[in-house]
Amino acid sequence: MAKPEGPTIGVKLFVDKEKKKVLFAESDKEFVDVIFSFLTMPLGTIVRLLDKQSQMGCLDQLYNSVEDLNLEYFQTSACKAMLLKPLNAASGHCCRLKINVDGSVPRVVYVCKDTSCSALSDNAFSSFPGTVCKCGKVMESIGQCPKYDGGTETAAASCSEDGVFVKGCLKFIVTDDLQVAPASTSLMMSVFEKFGVLDPAVLEQQVLQFSSEKITCLLKRLLTSKQPLTDHYFEAPVPQDDASLEALVQNLNPKQENEGQEMPGNLKIRVLQTKDDSALLYAEVGVDFVDSLFSLLSIPLGSAIKLYGQCSAKGCLGNVYRSIDGSVQEFVREECQSLLLDPKLPPFFGCCASKILQVDELAPRELTIKACFVCFKSLGFSGCSLCHGYYNSNYVFVKCGNMVKSIKLCEANPKQKGGCEKGEVYVSRKANFLVTDDLRVLPLSLASTVKIVSDSKIQTSNLVVKEITLTKSKVMELQRAVLLLSRNILSSVLLHPKKNKKLHHYHRMY
Ligand SMILES: [Zn+2]
Ligand SMILES: [Zn+2]
Repeated sequence: MAKPEGPTIGVKLFVDKEKKKVLFAESDKEFVDVIFSFLTMPLGTIVRLLDKQSQMGCLDQLYNSVEDLNLEYFQTSACKAMLLKPLNAASGHCCRLKINVDGSVPRVVYVCKDTSCSALSDNAFSSFPGTVCKCGKVMESIGQCPKYDGGTETAAASCSEDGVFVKGCLKFIVTDDLQVAPASTSLMMSVFEKFGVLDPAVLEQQVLQFSSEKITCLLKRLLTSKQPLTDHYFEAPVPQDDASLEALVQNLNPKQENEGQEMPGNLKIRVLQTKDDSALLYAEVGVDFVDSLFSLLSIPLGSAIKLYGQCSAKGCLGNVYRSIDGSVQEFVREECQSLLLDPKLPPFFGCCASKILQVDELAPRELTIKACFVCFKSLGFSGCSLCHGYYNSNYVFVKCGNMVKSIKLCEANPKQKGGCEKGEVYVSRKANFLVTDDLRVLPLSLASTVKIVSDSKIQTSNLVVKEITLTKSKVMELQRAVLLLSRNILSSVLLHPKKNKKLHHYHRMY
């Protein structure tokens, strides 16, 4: 039997075949909704969807580091899952998209299955495997929560003429560099003028069908090209990550409201560098520094663009963001504007990076179960009715003696273990780490340090260890470099703060 094909979204492209250029696309709200939904996606989700070839700075590298680190280096095993498969706080909206390339909806519910658990009265559940109950046992899956299937929501949305994020039934124009606006003649004319189209009759109109797979390819184009529609249509090869340092841009210094303000707990790191500041081999760091890097994976794309103006050195997703804030604003549903321009984090995803980026987190979720907790633990969602079982018509409960037949489950902090930690950081406090200049994060071991020093071919007499205290604005500079640079991140920010504009002066030493 042939595999059933998934949904597709038709988009009409206006192509100048002679100049090999797509001028713009005309689309319905479904396509615009999908493009907008990228802003709600956590950076780690994008890295995962693009198979660690996102070319967003060195996030691919960071993602690899999280994957390669043993579970013992995280507070709980849930922490690793949260970084590798972060949740989208807007998943309730995204599951109504015609094509949702990130299928991770928080459906599976985990509870401590011990029916005589010492923390029974907490009524705790989690959305992540590996969450630890207060009694010390690891929570296990109790199945999928029917409420998150999204079936009823889909029906409700299709009755309305509004889209998921945009409203009304109008057509949109999407330019080759992803500026989005309601379709209008004046806008079309200005595009014609800009690209020297004297006779629109030379333009060919082509309708492309975007499947889920093609949308994912398009996402990659949006991160790596300034003309993603042209490159998609003419199937241009995706540029290799050339890591051209010139791409690192004029203003590596973000808005500095807290100039010089030291991080809570003084983020001190030690770097091994050359005495003449020409190269940095690695930094020896503690948990807070590693956490500030790793937790970037849980940050929504829109939040990164909001603070830093862009999320990759080459792409054009910043234009999507600015369109929502400008040309297309009045056609974005009011309640969705902050969802896209100022996305929030799911419960318990608050972290070092989100504090710096000022991304708020949603309150923990609650789930109402029509059964007592003991029955729910042993019977799951489908067995809830058995908690209400009767014997004859005497209203004597035989299946379950508990009188409380409906409970609110409260979401537990997946980062917390035994209640001693505050449950903010992902990484275990018991370890020290080594971070290479290209942002490979490893547990600190003498074997790795010796290898890096010997690979560098720099004489040890030219090397020196320096201690650096990172201020908040330095950490912000680092974050921005993580998004834009794929190499030499630490040295660019820590050794050459004044020379950022001419980073190509700096040659790789190893
Ligand atoms: Zn328990
Ligand atoms: Zn019961």
